[in-house]
Amino acid sequence: MSKMLKVAVPNKGILSEFAVQMLDEAGYAVRKDSKTLRVLDSANNIEFFYLRPRDIATYVGTGALDLGLTGLDLLADSGSNAVKVADLNFGNSTFRLAGEAGKFKQLSDVNGKRVATSYPELLKNFLDKEGISATIVKLDGAVETAVSLGVADLVADVVSSGNTLRQAGLEIFGPVILESSAYLIANASSIDSASSLLRRINGVIVAREYVIFDYDCPTTLIEEASKVTPGIESPTISPTKDSEWLAVRALVKRSETNEKMDALYELGARAILVSAIHAARI
Ligand code: AMP
Repeated sequence: MSKMLKVAVPNKGILSEFAVQMLDEAGYAVRKDSKTLRVLDSANNIEFFYLRPRDIATYVGTGALDLGLTGLDLLADSGSNAVKVADLNFGNSTFRLAGEAGKFKQLSDVNGKRVATSYPELLKNFLDKEGISATIVKLDGAVETAVSLGVADLVADVVSSGNTLRQAGLEIFGPVILESSAYLIANASSIDSASSLLRRINGVIVAREYVIFDYDCPTTLIEEASKVTPGIESPTISPTKDSEWLAVRALVKRSETNEKMDALYELGARAILVSAIHAARI
């Protein structure tokens, strides 16, 4: 039997919830109670370790664990040499500068100021690269409060909807420092061991991102219809009892469902049915 794979999973925060849901959908054993630190999935020969999101890149980078699910921002801040394996398509965010409304316009306005952040390495690397000299005030979280309490002049933080910063009276300015999302990470010697986990995770991503289109298409319009629904590789085209009609099946991005249904209908396709994918291996 091959070596047991050791995988790090975030134990709290926004990434934890989505990571656990993804592993569950991929058919792996997940913890049922937030106090559990280790879950042995003997059927799949994997042991899952629930760790602080911030520590995951360190455990994986040192080789103590083989793989991990974590945010790109946390990986960048950790200084770990863990490597990215695949984008997990959740936890999308940007790392941005923000200051009191109207006070900051451009990056050079940061010179000589105090910047509060929970991502000091990520910020330092960015400021160094841009040739900006500022004082970094390291905080554990909720950095948006630092400005009103006078601990810093501005902040650098993870932004999703932007509500948190807005509510604190802060306004985003300057360039996007990092576009982040959750990633599967590995270390140089464990990348190859990621393949089975990755295949299952990709199945979950496809099942979430795509729907199945089934429709009937006049034989004469099949080329046009195939352009509307090209599928991932190619649509499946089957005969029907009526030689003037063909039956078509193709994967379509969930976000394009209605525009594709309209386009097919306008073209002359009928009986257009859309179904969700329960599970997939592509
Ligand atoms: P927002 O939606 O911009 O109000 O985000 C709320 C807070 O949640 C932010 O200040 C972040 O600290 C945190 N947050 C949102 N999205 C993420 C994410 N993808 N990764 C880590 N933290 C996040």
